[in-house]
Amino acid sequence: MESPDPAQIRSSLGLLARYYYFESGCQKEDIMEKLDAFMERHYPRYHPVDWSLSIEKHAARAAKYPLCQCPGIWVTQQELQTISDINHKVLERLAFTLLCLARFRNFRNENNHDWVNDSNAEIYKLACINTTAFEKDLKLSQLRDMGLIAFAKKVDNPSIHVLFLHKESEPVLFIRDFRKLGLEWRLYKGEPYIRCANCGILIKKTSNSKKYCPECAQLSAAQKKYHWDLQHKQRRH
Ligand SMILES: [Zn+2]
Repeated sequence: MESPDPAQIRSSLGLLARYYYFESGCQKEDIMEKLDAFMERHYPRYHPVDWSLSIEKHAARAAKYPLCQCPGIWVTQQELQTISDINHKVLERLAFTLLCLARFRNFRNENNHDWVNDSNAEIYKLACINTTAFEKDLKLSQLRDMGLIAFAKKVDNPSIHVLFLHKESEPVLFIRDFRKLGLEWRLYKGEPYIRCANCGILIKKTSNSKKYCPECAQLSAAQKKYHWDLQHKQRRH
């Protein structure tokens, strides 16, 4: 049997942690126990010491991103063109994010018909745009004035109808990670972004040696120190 790829194990741990949190209602300690049991069952050469930090991290983060059984969504050539034609970096990211969210909701519910009803705060967080509440409304209005989106008529319903889905056009870009949609767009446009070697989140490439996001870099350093301390202790005894 081929030895399992650590990156794949980590991705399974992340998915499982979210599953236990969202579907089974487990809290951190229970999740850690279950992940440990999962590793025992599936990996003959599992050493709890090597994985304890990783397991704790996944258990702690389980609540952060909702479980998504959707493997990802396709964006078509015509949609990419429409977004590029906006020719305004921030509005492009916002439009791309809305498009991905509409596709995701269509996947979850076939009667969704290209609607998005996430909060403005959530949309802007995913789009990686930092701005004031006033600017948030303004930017959405700009997209509406371009005919790209429409708002639901009810005042108490914050739904946005995304009007530029071109389902007959050729699927070109597959988006499987919804954590930083704004950065997915920047990567597509050729900006220097890479995926963290541990958790896969997009980060700006600031040097050739950069491999991890800040959180994972910290974890990796802690893991190294832990092993060093362990070896050091063993030698002394
Ligand atoms: Zn990371």
